[in-house]
Amino acid sequence: MTITKSQYDHGYHFSGSEKGKISDTGTFDFLVSENADGVPFQLIFGQQIGEGIYLNTGAGVKQLLGISPEDFTEKIFHDMIEEIVPLSDDIPADPIMTRRKFINGEIKNYRAEILVKLPGGGKKWILDTSVPMIDDETGTVTGTMGILYDDTTRKNILEKLVEARKRTDDSENLKAAFLHNISHEIRTPLNAIVGFSTLLEEYPESREKRREYLDIISRSSDHLLEIIDNIVEISKIEAKTVKISREQVNLYKVIRTVYDQFSCIASEKAIVFNYIVPGESDPCIYTDNFKVTQILRNLVSNALKFTMEGRIEFGYTLKDKYIEFHVSDTGIGISSEQQANIFTRFYQGDNTSKRSYGGTGLGLAISKAYVELLGGNIWFTSHNGEGSTFRFTLPKEIAVK
Ligand code: ADP
Repeated sequence: MTITKSQYDHGYHFSGSEKGKISDTGTFDFLVSENADGVPFQLIFGQQIGEGIYLNTGAGVKQLLGISPEDFTEKIFHDMIEEIVPLSDDIPADPIMTRRKFINGEIKNYRAEILVKLPGGGKKWILDTSVPMIDDETGTVTGTMGILYDDTTRKNILEKLVEARKRTDDSENLKAAFLHNISHEIRTPLNAIVGFSTLLEEYPESREKRREYLDIISRSSDHLLEIIDNIVEISKIEAKTVKISREQVNLYKVIRTVYDQFSCIASEKAIVFNYIVPGESDPCIYTDNFKVTQILRNLVSNALKFTMEGRIEFGYTLKDKYIEFHVSDTGIGISSEQQANIFTRFYQGDNTSKRSYGGTGLGLAISKAYVELLGGNIWFTSHNGEGSTFRFTLPKEIAVK
């Protein structure tokens, strides 16, 4: 016997005289040929859930659930179930309620994802699609017939899609915040350059004023260049086109360069600014001079930006197999909610329009990418209001001086 699609869609009706033939495997011709990957089944309800009888379960149940068709009982199946996710609103997650609704004729089409525990260990998502079996003579629902599918692949794909969608949304939000910040960041130095260039013409005689304005113009140009460099650099990192050079790098010189660059700003803010190096044993290592210097610049510049008073100390120590750098400050610290995100590009702890610290949210993302390209790790410890310490390592490939 073969049933039609319409019979399947509207519940399978059989006459009393067919009951004896219910195990006729032909019953599933339609279903099996329409759904070559599925395992057909026919369940005759018992008094209680778990007391029903499966008839004509397809041989594929062995591969699907690890149980041979002759051993497959409703009790075994129910004991395997860990979770039921109904795929339409009229289907309850609770099997007892579902059974009641089936018997009352309230479910015409059952579709649910079911997580089962497999007898050999492990779990699997299966898709259960079934229709009620209705006795034509009595009009009562006496069971269900349907198909079980392996749903793992579909579920995995769905989960990956949801995850990818979330990542896209996150990155769209970050880009929007970035565009907002970047336009502000670029406008500030640009306005200064344009404004003070105009003022230069108004005080052509005053040497003092001219020097002051030229100084502002020069600092604003440097700042603008830095912002643009950062945007170019993060684009290169994302496009994976960053090149690493390997040269002899004197670590003391790196530390001194960074110290000289920032000591003025530190003393303007009355912050104690120190560096610590191992001294006589200051080594030369093979690495990328520009990138190591840039990582330290980014970390020290942040320390200065987020510290209003106290001290900043940076330097490195020689460990067995690597060199560990550190930058510590007594600044505002990083709250636990912000900690997970601060290496994400464009992320800024204070994303509000009232931002008082400036920046583009790129420094740490670039630093992390550089450290990893150079073969090291970067991490930090921080408490809100109690300062931060950033650390990173580099391989200790000592060069002969
Ligand atoms: P930017 O400094 O341009 O905002 P970064 O990528 O360098 O971008 O830093 C990201 C965020 O991490 C900062 O906005 C800030 O919230 C937090 N942060 C980084 N360094 C420190 C620090 N030393 N103290 C407090 N917060 C910091």
